[in-house]
Amino acid sequence: MIVFNLRCEFGHRFEGWFASHASFDDQLGRGLVECPVCASRHIERLLSAPRINRGVALVGESESQRGSMGDSACEGFVHPTPEQALAQALWLKLVRHVVENTQDVGSQFAEEARRIHYREAPERGIRGQTTAEEAQLLAEEGIDVVSFPLPVAFKGQLQ
Ligand SMILES: [Zn+2]
Repeated sequence: MIVFNLRCEFGHRFEGWFASHASFDDQLGRGLVECPVCASRHIERLLSAPRINRGVALVGESESQRGSMGDSACEGFVHPTPEQALAQALWLKLVRHVVENTQDVGSQFAEEARRIHYREAPERGIRGQTTAEEAQLLAEEGIDVVSFPLPVAFKGQLQ
């Protein structure tokens, strides 16, 4: 098994385990490598020497778990390091907080944001989809917009 440090288009870093370099290339080529945070399949491999898992006892709880996972059944299985898992948990907590404290206005986002800004609608937090151009226009009008990718898995839970 070889461990690759991977990164998605949104900068989430994670590790992927593969039987070989060729296996990684093959799975990447077929779109089977997915970011565990946002499910993006635009993945790039970070330039670092791959570690070879020899199945020996390693230091630390998570490391010893990895050591026991050196079989072919987990090929292509992607899991974050403890630091990344913590960062992702915090990030998901933030997403959850935003979701719980905002109203989903969907594609009406830009319109509704303007109505709130110009006091035509009650002031409240909203969320929804908008284009980069629209977000730019809103920013120029002095309307604060924060954008972040919502994990695909999370969207499913919300509907
Ligand atoms: Zn990602």
